[in-house]
Amino acid sequence: MKVVIAQMKHETNTFSPVPTPLARFATGTPMPPEGDEAYAAYKGTGSGISAFIDLAEAAGAQIEIPIAAAAWPSGPVEDAAFEHIASRICQAVARGCDAVLLDLHGAMVTQTYEDGEGELLRRIRAIAPKVPIGVALDMHTNMYPGMVDAATVIAGYQTYPHIDVYETGQRAGRAIFAMLAGQARPAMAWGNKPMLPHVMRQGSDDSPNKELQARCREMERQGALSASLFVGFPNADIHNAGLSAVVVTDNDPALARRLTDELLDLAWAAREKFVYKLEPLADSLARAKKLAQDIEPGSGPVVLLDHSDNCASGGTMDTMTVLGGILDAGLEDVAAFAVYDPAAVQQMIAAGVGSTVTLSLGGKLPMPSIGLSGQPRSVTGRVKLISDGRFRNRGPMARGEMNDMGPTVVLDTGKVEIVILSDHIEPHDLAAFQAVGIDPSRKRFVMLKSRVHWRAGLKPLARAVVECAGTGVCTSDYELLAFKNVRRPIYPLDPL
Ligand SMILES: [Zn+2]
Repeated sequence: MKVVIAQMKHETNTFSPVPTPLARFATGTPMPPEGDEAYAAYKGTGSGISAFIDLAEAAGAQIEIPIAAAAWPSGPVEDAAFEHIASRICQAVARGCDAVLLDLHGAMVTQTYEDGEGELLRRIRAIAPKVPIGVALDMHTNMYPGMVDAATVIAGYQTYPHIDVYETGQRAGRAIFAMLAGQARPAMAWGNKPMLPHVMRQGSDDSPNKELQARCREMERQGALSASLFVGFPNADIHNAGLSAVVVTDNDPALARRLTDELLDLAWAAREKFVYKLEPLADSLARAKKLAQDIEPGSGPVVLLDHSDNCASGGTMDTMTVLGGILDAGLEDVAAFAVYDPAAVQQMIAAGVGSTVTLSLGGKLPMPSIGLSGQPRSVTGRVKLISDGRFRNRGPMARGEMNDMGPTVVLDTGKVEIVILSDHIEPHDLAAFQAVGIDPSRKRFVMLKSRVHWRAGLKPLARAVVECAGTGVCTSDYELLAFKNVRRPIYPLDPL
């Protein structure tokens, strides 16, 4: 038995000015890893592809990994990058196999295709009309019929922050191996609702997603091969952006249909709870200052979430609105993670550790989709530390996977320690702070460019959380996003 296992992951923010060439799909290497290199990068980690490898090895299958390509979210994927990744996978399938297991995101938009995953799956189906295809998807999938038509089994994450990525690979992979063993006949149904849940209201520890995901798990305990409720990724102006569901049963299409519709009806009934209400930034910072007064110094920080500029939602990670507000408000004992500014990093490396520099920090990338030019901020501080920016996640999210922030510097203004990096990463793991010598648990305030994933590794430290509405292309203010292609009417853009 031979199994082709591959990864192609990108969440596309169509409003993002951050480019997505092939190099963005690699970590610490110029190209995404293939074959033995891909195996070594992911075997034993918390990834979906790692679960596929374990299942295939347990089944005694021969494994081919043509490519493992994962990029931080950004603008539409360059055609050359998509063609490179898709052709590697299709060539492997064309060499012959008994099953294909794919670790995909489910919200990839390329320069040519609105539904990147659907296009990949359509090509694989054309080469291998009968081969079973198992697909693990992110909860932020924007589902298209092309994906469901071509796949045999689909399973999506049931947690946000995504701490069940490995388990999702198991759910997709087990159904395929059961099918190969003649023990299951997967029957799949899907559907969507015209709703665009705000990302800030999608956390699976919060209602209503908590209850929706619990119902998915219950359906699986009661016999469904997989049950997935996708909250969707709204910062994508494409026809099928938004919430959907997929249920796979063993040889019972009517049950799959009924369970899918039940999930969709539950989500629709809870749609108002998925709407996020913004607080003005000045109010948030004033509230944060008050909250900190009631907290014993050193017992844990007030977390300030700069949620409009999260690089794991396609943010440039260089808008200075929230950090500027923190500096203006005079907050003290702050760690800020992080500002993307490779030029500033080079300037500080040239100056050297211990020297005092004045930088025009951040604000380098214009954001034409939301009508903003970059707004750098002049900052003076001491270069405290220079790092190569490489670290391995502790988990629970993306456990064991390598990260590469590129050359990274900590600039200390006296009141704020600002981490400035050369490659995007979202802070969701304590190891990111350890890599730059900061103990966030001892800080009075910690600013994070993050929305929900920070909770995975850092929530236990937080004494209070204040969501700060800054600027950026992953804004939760839909008024700022010019939706032209998403299907209408859709809630809450339209009153339904
Ligand atoms: Zn996601």
